[in-house]
Amino acid sequence: MIMVDRVIMPTLTPPRPQTMTYSVSPIGFVRSCFKEKFAIPRQPQLAPAARGVLELVAPFDQGDAVQGLEHVSHVWLLFLFHQALEEKPRLKVRPPRLGGNKSMGVFATRATHRPNGIGQSVVKLDKVEANRLWISGIDLLDGTPVLDIKPYVPYADIIATASNTIASAAPQLIAVEWTDAALHQANGHAQRLAEPLVELIEQCLAQDPRPAYQTPAPEREYGAQFWDVDVRWHYPTPDLIRVLEVIPAKA
Ligand code: SAM
Repeated sequence: MIMVDRVIMPTLTPPRPQTMTYSVSPIGFVRSCFKEKFAIPRQPQLAPAARGVLELVAPFDQGDAVQGLEHVSHVWLLFLFHQALEEKPRLKVRPPRLGGNKSMGVFATRATHRPNGIGQSVVKLDKVEANRLWISGIDLLDGTPVLDIKPYVPYADIIATASNTIASAAPQLIAVEWTDAALHQANGHAQRLAEPLVELIEQCLAQDPRPAYQTPAPEREYGAQFWDVDVRWHYPTPDLIRVLEVIPAKA
């Protein structure tokens, strides 16, 4: 018979609440196609044509810090929701995905209002330069401060058995159509910008940016800025978006 010593667990004392002050500073800032929060997809990868550049700041802008990233297809960005920072932490939030009228624990959501304002997005890495990374599939506002970059590691980051019954599938897409004039305008701006602007607009509007609780009247117009153009659209029926115009944004 084998005797096994009983392991006596030490009594666990809860850590004392303490306030710690950390110094965190951005390693760079994103230049993004998204100039306002409205119409940005709710997660990365939903709009592959959403592109931007992560401009690194000193001392990370000399090439050493990104050496090796040319072997990596995607990176995690840890960033600050700089346009959603709040003094008082929220314990419950109302995610737009749940219609904006149902509250849920902040840690069960990807809401922008968070205790330390930290967001994370996995984005495609299109090109690596010494002082900047060209990225796509982003869900980041222009000017977003980035705190860290980490390579996506498929064997560890893909969890085949993972589940989340609150967000079990990507949002349902809505049909997007163009007026002839708007498509002509968009193609012209796409050429000037050398950006896939038509695809960007279609991919973002197909996410249906309007708050879930709003039933749009056909005469109501919506608008958002992508790059340096203003896009205006309406809902001829609740499940169809028609792009009306794509014009230079007001300065
Ligand atoms: N993927 C990230 C995450 O899970 O932490 C962000 C998810 S959050 C639901 C995505 C929304 O954040 C976007 O639709 C956009 O409106 C908003 N957003 C993006 N960048 C932001 C910023 N710098 N400050 C405030 N809001 C931002």
